[in-house]
Amino acid sequence: MPPSASDILHRVFGFASFRGQQEDVIAHVVTGGDALVLMPTGGGKSLCYQIPALCREGMGVVVSPLIALMRDQVEALKQLGVRAAALNSTLENGEAGRIIAQMRAGEIDLLYIAPERLVLQGTLALLESCKISLFAIDEAHCVSQWGHDFRPEYLQLAILHERFPNIPRVALTATADAPTQNEIVRQLKLGDGRVFITSFDRPNIRYLVVPKAKPRDQLLQFLNKDHKQNSGIVYCLSRARVEETAEWLSRQGFTALPYHAGLPADKRARHQDRFLKDESVIIVATIAFGMGIDKPDVRFVAHIDLPKSIEAYYQETGRAGRDGLPSDAVLFFGIEDASKLRSMIESGDSDDKRKQLERRKLDSLVGFCASTRCRRQTLLEYFGETPPEPCGNCDACQNPAASFDGTVAAQKALSCVYRTGQRFGAAHLTDILVGGKTDRIRQFHHDELPTYGVGKEFSRNQWRDIFRQLVAQGLLLMDMEGYGGLRFASDNACRPVLRGEQSVFLRETPATRTTRELRAEVSGKRRGAFSDQGLPVLDGDEDESLFQNLRALRLRLAKAQNVPPYVIFHDTTLIALAKARPKSLEEMSGIAGVGSAKLARYGEVFLKAVGGK
Ligand code: ADP
Ligand code: ZN
Repeated sequence: MPPSASDILHRVFGFASFRGQQEDVIAHVVTGGDALVLMPTGGGKSLCYQIPALCREGMGVVVSPLIALMRDQVEALKQLGVRAAALNSTLENGEAGRIIAQMRAGEIDLLYIAPERLVLQGTLALLESCKISLFAIDEAHCVSQWGHDFRPEYLQLAILHERFPNIPRVALTATADAPTQNEIVRQLKLGDGRVFITSFDRPNIRYLVVPKAKPRDQLLQFLNKDHKQNSGIVYCLSRARVEETAEWLSRQGFTALPYHAGLPADKRARHQDRFLKDESVIIVATIAFGMGIDKPDVRFVAHIDLPKSIEAYYQETGRAGRDGLPSDAVLFFGIEDASKLRSMIESGDSDDKRKQLERRKLDSLVGFCASTRCRRQTLLEYFGETPPEPCGNCDACQNPAASFDGTVAAQKALSCVYRTGQRFGAAHLTDILVGGKTDRIRQFHHDELPTYGVGKEFSRNQWRDIFRQLVAQGLLLMDMEGYGGLRFASDNACRPVLRGEQSVFLRETPATRTTRELRAEVSGKRRGAFSDQGLPVLDGDEDESLFQNLRALRLRLAKAQNVPPYVIFHDTTLIALAKARPKSLEEMSGIAGVGSAKLARYGEVFLKAVGGK
C-alpha cells in the first residue's frame, strides 16, 4: 500500500499538521488531478508537490527556473532522506549519466530540471521510458510575458500536456495578480485543473514606511535596533548606490556584500553563496537579486530607494520571513525618488501605452506610501482581497498619524507656487510662506507677494512636509531636470482646491521630526494582531543564548558539508528545541521539522547541545 500523505508529513518532514490548503491540494493531485496553486511566499508550496510525488508511484519531475534554487531544494530533500537529484548544465562529467541511470532504475523520487533541458526531444524520450508520478512547474509566473521574470522556455511547457496527458501537473506561483494567473492557465493548458487560491497576506512581515531624511543614518538605526545579527536584503535603484551602500555598511561593521548585474558572474555567485551559507550576511542589491532566493531566514528587506510598483514592492519584501518568523520590510520614502522615477519613465523608450501603465503603477505605489491607512489593508486590497480590519503590524497601525483638513494650507502653498511662476523649489517657497528674509526673496521681490508671510502657523519643516504631501497626492509635480522646481500637475486638479471646491486632507507632521523620533517610529514595538501562528517564540535570555549556541552548532555542521545551515534545521526548529529542551530522541522527534532522517543524523548532537543527555 502506498504511504498516506499524513504519514509522509510526519515521518519525512517531521510536521504535525498541514497548513492552509496543502491538504486539499495534495489530495487532489494524489488522485491524478491538475492544479494551479497560488500561495504567498512561505505559504508552503513545496509540500504541495513533494508529498504527492512521494505518495504516488514513480518519479516527480519539478521544473525550476534557476539552478541555485534547484540545488537548494535538492540538498534540503536529501537531508530529509528523500532521493532527489537535479539535471542541469552545471553537472560535472559523468554525473548526468549517473543520474539518468538512477532514473531508469527507478531510484529517484524527485527530479529537478531546467525548462530548456526538459523540452529537448532526448529528455522527453528519456522521461517516457521512466515511471513519472507528476510534473510540478515551479515559479509558473515565468510564462507571463508581462511579468518581470519572463522565461521564453516556459512557453514550451505546454508540450507536457500533449506528451503526458495522463500525468498530473501542478503549477505553483506566489505572484498575486489576476492577468498573470490567467496567462499561466492558458499557456500551460491547465484549463481542466483546479485552482487553489490562498490569501496573499504575509502576517509575519511588519510593513514600515518611513519618510526619508538621512537614509544611511535611518538604515543604520534600523539595523542596530532590531537586526544586528540578522540576514537581510537592502534594495537600491542603481549599481553605484549598491556599491557605495555596501561599502559604507561594511565600514559600520556589518558583513554587507554588493550584488548587481554589472558585477562579474563569479563574484555575484560568490556573494550569493555567502548570503546562503553564512549567518548574518546583508546583501545590498539592485532588483537583479532575489529571484530564486529561497533562504527562509531573511529577517528584513529594506528599500532605500523606491521600487517601481506595488507588485515589485510586494515581491521584493516577500523575500523576508519565509519561515514564518517575525520579519521587517522597511521602505524609506522620499518624494524626490518618485519624481526621479517619473522622469525616468518619461525619458525611457517604452511606447506610450506602456508608459501610461508604468506611470499608473508608480502612482499607486506613491499613493500607498503617502497614505495613512493600514499598509496591509492597502496592499491586499490592491491584490483584490478585502481584509476585514487594520492589521496591527505596520507603521500606520502602530503609530497612527492624525490627519487634518489641510485645504487652507494647500491653497496657500498652491497659490505661492502659482504666483512665483511655477519654477521654485520647496525651500524657497517655504521661505516666502513663513516670511523669511533671504537674498533670493529680495532679488525676486517675493516679499511683495500676497502670500508672503501668510504661513506662519506652520514651521519650515512642516511646510516642507506639506509640499511633499501635495506632490504625493498628485497636485504638484517636481522638476527633476533642474533644481526641484514645483509646478501644478494640472490645472484641473489644482483649480478646484484654490477655489475651495475640493478639500485636501493632510497627514499631521510633528513640528520637528528629529532622527530620534524617526528611530522610535521604525522600531516601534511589535504588537497587535500578528500572533505568531503557533510558532515558538524565544522568551528570556537563557533561551536566547541556547538558541545562539544551537545556531553555531548548525553552522559548523553545515560548513562541514558545504550546505546552507537552513537545510539542516530551520530557525523555527532551533527555537522550538531551545524552548522544549528534549531529554530523549523520542521527545525530540515530536518537534516540528525533525523528521526521521534528521533525527537519525543530527539527533544525538543536538540532544547533547540542549543538555538532554
Ligand atoms: P513557499 O515555497 O510557498 O515559499 P515553502 O514550501 O518553502 O514555501 O515553505 C515555507 C516554510 O514553511 C518552510 O520553512 C517549510 O518547511 C514550512 N512548512 C511548510 N508546510 C508546513 C507544515 N505543514 N507545517 C510546518 N511547517 C511547514
Ligand atoms: Zn496595519
